[in-house]
Amino acid sequence: MAYDRIYNFSAGPSMLPIEVLESARDNTMNYEGSGMSVMEMSHRSKVYDNIIVSAIALMREVMGIPDNYKVLFLQGGASLQFAMVPMNLMTKNNKADYIVTGSFSGKAAEEAAKYGKVNIAATTKDEDFTRIPQQSELNLDPEADYVHICFNNTIYGSKWNYIPDTGDVPLVADLSSCIMSEPIDVTKFGLIYAGAQKNMAPAGLTIVIVREDLIGKTLPGTPVMMDYEKMAKSDSMYNTPPCWSIYVCKLVLEWLKNMGGLKVMQERNEKKAKLLYDAIDESSLFSCKVEKNSRSIMNVRFSTGNEELDAKFVKESAANGMSNLKGHRSAGGLRASIYNAMPYEGVEHLVNFIKKFEAENK
Ligand SMILES: *Cc1c(COP(=O)(O)O)cnc(C)c1O
Repeated sequence: MAYDRIYNFSAGPSMLPIEVLESARDNTMNYEGSGMSVMEMSHRSKVYDNIIVSAIALMREVMGIPDNYKVLFLQGGASLQFAMVPMNLMTKNNKADYIVTGSFSGKAAEEAAKYGKVNIAATTKDEDFTRIPQQSELNLDPEADYVHICFNNTIYGSKWNYIPDTGDVPLVADLSSCIMSEPIDVTKFGLIYAGAQKNMAPAGLTIVIVREDLIGKTLPGTPVMMDYEKMAKSDSMYNTPPCWSIYVCKLVLEWLKNMGGLKVMQERNEKKAKLLYDAIDESSLFSCKVEKNSRSIMNVRFSTGNEELDAKFVKESAANGMSNLKGHRSAGGLRASIYNAMPYEGVEHLVNFIKKFEAENK
């Protein structure tokens, strides 16, 4: 690979497209004749204003975000949204439904319980989070202020293959590890949030896409910095935004558009995921315990079923130009994160290594 880079299968922060890194590098010393780097620029300057305004416009275009939704560029990661969502949305009946399908949705539910009543409307915890519940299993409360889901479970390697029907109750979704991996109908959601460091930009930026009518009311004591309406009114510039991350996010969005948009991304991602899952399913050494119709196309969880052999795999893969294939400490085993920026060749390289490892360790 160019520049002696390796295939980085990290769950996040993760790979960025080469073209994006090159463009950021080429503009590091003097951004478009401004005489300075984006890193050094006032966020109130005309040059920077152009960057943030085009980043938001590009995001609207690439994701097809309707006009009645606000796009906010915030900080604090997806984890801060675990608290911001209830502080801004648990304001009518002070209760919400949470569907727990992995670590992050569990954390979101725990955080929300500090602000109101949380009903766990469904969970697959007893099944080691190896699948997503069906619509008929959801125990939804029509009086809930919202329903919260994690659309792609980064750690457990599962993904919702349908958008649950929540009636008139707004659906809130954590899209941290799958945003812009495929087209999504934004109108089906009341609020979408995502930390940028998986599929969009360097760490430090959090995206919130929220339907206008849902904001404007907060629980007493909500800090200004955690009030969606205040952030929306100031165009995400109430204070200094994460300038550099927003700039790189804009470059990523330009790259996505050039590549053909989210439909093309989806085809690429499905092709990569199929190559990897087929290799695992055909293998007599490796297996993936996530149910076939709940499998993530971004985070592929697999294992030999033997801790020592998994550790050997991680070690030898590192010696073969690959990194971060160890599973998350809470799920164990192995995991390959294959976000938008992971080229097909990277997955091919991994699949060849899986076959070689299997032949040598039978
Ligand atoms: C990584 C991740 C988080 C945590 O993100 P931070 O930005 O580190 O707070 C939350 N939810 C999902 C689905 C994630 O993948």
